[in-house]
Amino acid sequence: MRVLVVEDEARIQTDIVRALADAGSACDVAGDGEDAWCRGDTEPYDIAILDLGLPKLDGLSVLKRWRASGQLLPVLILTARGSWSERVEGIDAGADDYLTKPFRMEELVARVRALIRRSAGQASPVLQSGPVALDTRQMRVTVDGENVPLTPLEFRLTSYLVHHKGRVVSTTELLEHLYGDDDAREANALEAVVTRLRRKLGSGVIETRRGFGYIISDDT
Ligand code: CA
Repeated sequence: MRVLVVEDEARIQTDIVRALADAGSACDVAGDGEDAWCRGDTEPYDIAILDLGLPKLDGLSVLKRWRASGQLLPVLILTARGSWSERVEGIDAGADDYLTKPFRMEELVARVRALIRRSAGQASPVLQSGPVALDTRQMRVTVDGENVPLTPLEFRLTSYLVHHKGRVVSTTELLEHLYGDDDAREANALEAVVTRLRRKLGSGVIETRRGFGYIISDDT
């Protein structure tokens, strides 16, 4: 999953990116509201974490502009302690959830996981596709109950396909959602990851639809 982290305080920004990267996400950062607005409108993120107090353009205005242009991206806002009116305004402007500063990174990661799951129409933290079960809390994949060790990229790819199971996902879409801005994106590398995953998960789990992309079955 690819996350846009909008936060102007360097320390908090670094902590959030580290926590989300550890939880298997690719992160891009924006340190001011104008950059955030532009990125959120042009790049296909799975979720944005949006601080409300930002230079150049405040977070609430960023959110309102995204929603005004029809941007449905799930948004978790970060608000100042005690400011209930800010939270109400944020939710009214289209935020999906909020966290009050200071917060625990564990809580942020759990909320991000839940928002991504819900936006993909999945209710349970354990996502199932045939023999494959993906536990979003433990970042673990099992096949017929057996643990299958995966690299972070293999996990991200499996996770994206399982969140969107039953739908063909194109190579372009995968490249956009698995990598951050700073990562090299190569379709050939992606094919190699899929080949490795087939060996680990079983050959029938990820199907190729030639010319269209990949699909994982929505059987449970
Ligand atoms: Ca701030």
